[in-house]
Amino acid sequence: MLNLVIFGPPGCGKGTQSARIAERYGLVHLSSGDMLRNEIEKDTTLGKQVKKYVEKGLLVPDHIILKKIYKSAIKYINSAGIIFDGFPRTLVQAVMLDRFLHKKDILLDMVILMLVDRSELYQRLMGRAEDSGRKDDNEKVFHVRMKVYEKETHCLKNYYKKQSKILQVNGMEPVGDVSDKIANAINYYCKNNRIYSKVI
Ligand code: ADP
Repeated sequence: MLNLVIFGPPGCGKGTQSARIAERYGLVHLSSGDMLRNEIEKDTTLGKQVKKYVEKGLLVPDHIILKKIYKSAIKYINSAGIIFDGFPRTLVQAVMLDRFLHKKDILLDMVILMLVDRSELYQRLMGRAEDSGRKDDNEKVFHVRMKVYEKETHCLKNYYKKQSKILQVNGMEPVGDVSDKIANAINYYCKNNRIYSKVI
């Protein structure tokens, strides 16, 4: 298996890159944001529970997201691998994911951190607001999501650095170039069992 996590601030392109990596390596793409939006759209019990958090740009409580992710991930433990997109997003989620994978005897291979300047993130999200139809793609919620990212999620960089699993990617380049760089890094890892330590 090849198991990856991808994270970064809102608008960093993790959804786009996850889909491309999943396609390239035959991985299952588990996007926590897509899962939640899907539940909200279908107006399920879970959807009703999480709507207020998602629309305000706040994090859904850990226990809710953990249950949902475990339930999905368990179906794919015999697949070619999983790319977790948008999960984990807190230290608690990261620790729980480690425990879950450890219990199933599964290795988390690499954690991709997408780096994009704040002004570029803002431009991208405002640009996609019209097409995405997402209630959280607006100026007010953008600032909330950035704050939440800085407070709750950015610390995952150190958590995974300590495990020597972090790959830092400059996400400011064209989409195809970013995908190629990530693929190079994955291929390098598969061959040498080592992750590039510098920003690529
Ligand atoms: P973004 O484009 O901001 O990175 P996502 O599509 O990954 O957004 O997630 C959208 C929203 O879904 C988040 O702002 C949050 O409300 C909720 N969400 C997604 N993943 C998680 C998670 N792992 N823990 C808590 N809430 C989450």
